[in-house]
Amino acid sequence: MTPDQLVRPEVLGMSAYHVAEAAGMVKLDAMENPYPLPEPLRRELAQVLARVALNRYPEPNPPRLRELIRRKMGVPADMEILLGNGSDDLIQVLAMALAREGATMMYPSPTFVVYSMSAAFMRMRAVPVPLREDFSLDADAFIARMRDEQPALVFLAYPNNPTGVLYPAADVLRVIEAAPGVVVLDEAYHVFAGKTFMGALPKHKNLLVLRTVSKLGLAGIRLGYLAGRPEWIRELNKVRQVYNVNVLTEATATFMLEHLDVLEAQAGEICAERAKLFTALSALQGVTVFPSAANFFLLRVPDAARTYEALCRQGVLVRNLHPGLANCLRVTVGTPDENRILLNALKEAL
Ligand code: PMP
Repeated sequence: MTPDQLVRPEVLGMSAYHVAEAAGMVKLDAMENPYPLPEPLRRELAQVLARVALNRYPEPNPPRLRELIRRKMGVPADMEILLGNGSDDLIQVLAMALAREGATMMYPSPTFVVYSMSAAFMRMRAVPVPLREDFSLDADAFIARMRDEQPALVFLAYPNNPTGVLYPAADVLRVIEAAPGVVVLDEAYHVFAGKTFMGALPKHKNLLVLRTVSKLGLAGIRLGYLAGRPEWIRELNKVRQVYNVNVLTEATATFMLEHLDVLEAQAGEICAERAKLFTALSALQGVTVFPSAANFFLLRVPDAARTYEALCRQGVLVRNLHPGLANCLRVTVGTPDENRILLNALKEAL
């Protein structure tokens, strides 16, 4: 008996999510916050973590952490929150809960690959709707397609990954209002975009807002949250793994949310660097840079494979999106030093 006789064909046909080896590299491939926590805060956190009862199971869906998220993240009072092992986990929970026989998931394309992966895992029909040439959203076309396909679940990354484009709020609103099913607004990069639909939750019965603490500077702890009406969260809550948020994550997130100002100040520095990096990248011969509301840029270059390899040789790790996105690289905004290294390496690599 071999795996190819037993494993589902769609799984056999997939490749595992690729994470490149990054040891010793200037790591600009995963949209992380490049700044470590200040030393005094690290020491304080170490003491908090030393007191965590590792022998006990976590409290499922911890109420104190949810309350803190509600307060710090402006979740409207009558909305509920579901926590996940990163927002990846919650994307899967959504697909798992909504994958009725023949149900459809729809999203603009290109976008975050975990949507389509989750559709495949759960046997949902995935309908990617192409973005325009400049990666803007054709809301009319998307709405027309929704009418034909009747998706149970729509994902809109706001701003989008890997393009960095923030769709106009009025277009997003039209999509929400026209959708026959649930619309999940994935606000993974909201700290850099400064725009959110969190406050609009009470107005729309079919809206859910997905967030993560990853891009804020806590990618390692794996914590995502989904905000929405209690009747949605109640159903989704049945599907998650019982202990999907571990005790160390819970303790760290609780501690860090009380020091949110530190992470927000770092995000502010990243936004300032983003503006400088955009100007510098735009000045490079042969590079097309797409404006971004997130902490990364999509670049089009003459030969993505060659540029990617040449950057690697110079110790700079970015993401090669080719062939999915022809001759495109995605680069995360780093520290001023890292961005300088990237720019110099790019000049050599082109
Ligand atoms: N949504 C989007 C749009 C993303 O780009 C990412 C991460 N790259 C995620 C969700 C997942 O984030 P995490 O699982 O770290 O919370």
